[in-house]
Amino acid sequence: RSLSSRAANILSALDIPTTGEVCGVYDGEWKGTGDLVSSVCPTTGEILARVKTASPEELHVALSKAREAYSFFRNVPAPRRGEILRQIRGALAAKRTELGALISLEMGKIKTEGIGEVQEFVDICDYAVGLSRMMNGRVVASERAGHSILEVPNPLGVVGVLSAFNFPMAVYGWNLSLSLAAGNATIWKPSPTTPLCAIAITTIIARVLEENGVPGAVAGLVTGDKEAGEAIAESRDVELVSFTGSEHVGRIVGKNVQSRFGKVILELGGNNAAIVMPDADLAMAVPSVFFGAIGTAGQRCTSTRRLYLHRDIADAFLDRLQKVYSGLKPGDPLDEATLLGPVHSATSVDIYETAVRHLKNTDARILAGGSRYERTGNFVQPTIALPKSVDPSDALWQTECFAPILNCAVFDDLEEAIRWNNAVPQGLSSSLWTRDVRNVGTWIGPNGSDTGIVNVNVGTSGAEIGAAFGGNKNTGWGRESGGDAWKQYVRWSACTINFSDSAPLAQGVDFST
Ligand code: NAD
Repeated sequence: RSLSSRAANILSALDIPTTGEVCGVYDGEWKGTGDLVSSVCPTTGEILARVKTASPEELHVALSKAREAYSFFRNVPAPRRGEILRQIRGALAAKRTELGALISLEMGKIKTEGIGEVQEFVDICDYAVGLSRMMNGRVVASERAGHSILEVPNPLGVVGVLSAFNFPMAVYGWNLSLSLAAGNATIWKPSPTTPLCAIAITTIIARVLEENGVPGAVAGLVTGDKEAGEAIAESRDVELVSFTGSEHVGRIVGKNVQSRFGKVILELGGNNAAIVMPDADLAMAVPSVFFGAIGTAGQRCTSTRRLYLHRDIADAFLDRLQKVYSGLKPGDPLDEATLLGPVHSATSVDIYETAVRHLKNTDARILAGGSRYERTGNFVQPTIALPKSVDPSDALWQTECFAPILNCAVFDDLEEAIRWNNAVPQGLSSSLWTRDVRNVGTWIGPNGSDTGIVNVNVGTSGAEIGAAFGGNKNTGWGRESGGDAWKQYVRWSACTINFSDSAPLAQGVDFST
């Protein structure tokens, strides 16, 4: 392969080979004799690398090495695991810019968002370092004299992480950091279209593990396509499968893991709405909706896809939004000035074009965008549409379209907007723009938004790591990152300990002979 200097510099700064094929499997050693997958730059179409994925046999070995690594790692005291996480945090932070550039190169998101994604990994490592000294169980009062009940968290086992293309590093970070703090081994199957991001991260982490005398399979990697994902979902050697991806695949993975009574976390698609009330501060709301709809070229799970505008401000809002859209120029995501990079793949372009065609065929008003850019790469025009039908049960409103298309509708009162917000199957993120505290109370209360992320004067996307992240309904009810998410990565035992001289039964049951 002959790489452009732009690509070669980014890969070599991260120790990814720039000649020959690249090993995509790590279980303590780098290998890969399975199918070759190509990593393709969405901006230029350049083939960045051919990656050697895991053969079925290598996958099997990687799973058994992960089990062995777990047996070792569960005996490392949690604060010591935290110290290793602190070193991982430092190693990632030292390569923040380079890793961010690789995300831009391979996934296509713009530079500031690529670096921001690495920062999210760094942040969750910080969080997990603290967690390693705080993963407390509880002491519960016993009804029996001379007895104590403890709820004890112990390491769980092997955690399989199946991840999507749009956050090729941070989602793994959310899982790896909590999983390591909890004393587990992790095996990662990234998206087949972002293998280099996974290889770069695994290389950095493997080095830290090695320096600390920890088996590399504590943070193993198997690149590959859906067969590798299926094998992890079906393996009894994997106690917890954490899946991030589409609703369609999540449904399959969820059933597969549950059929063997494994644990599963599902972080699936979103179909997120922003609601703008007449008293909203439009100077804040317009740029936030703009970022929500266009950030990562509309390919965040939390991207704003539906915009509900109160009749009193609808025209003014759309006018301002169209103006900011009209100033947008597509460009190389690695250029500092670019706000709009490409969508990730030819499939993403198809998704966009199919959706725009449907809007046009159903007489939607297209207020901005509506076609591809005539240039090399997967560049599509961010689109604002006013669909003819505002009926939330129409397929157009019911499905997540993973592209920069914002569908708008006009409402008359907050109850109607909340009804529309809640009328879709997905339940990830939502955002209300208002300065009236009564609206805020309604929005976050029992009659309000039913999504997992419920924001006020903050857009639908761009969550911090401190709170648990995840959605409800068809988004899968998953929770990752902060909050109480760590509790899913441990095995809980209720331990009743009798330190008295008799053995009474609970509830006063008398079984004396
Ligand atoms: P996808 O569902 O196509 O793929 C996700 C992962 O599943 C990939 O690693 C893929 O190889 C693997 N896979 C495919 N078939 C499988 C099977 N049968 N068994 C096991 N694994 C299988 O998703 P994508 O296109 O990469 O990502 C986009 C989707 O991810 C969007 O719907 C987006 O909303 C969602 N997403 C959700 C979140 C969240 O936190 N809720 C975050 C990021 C992305």
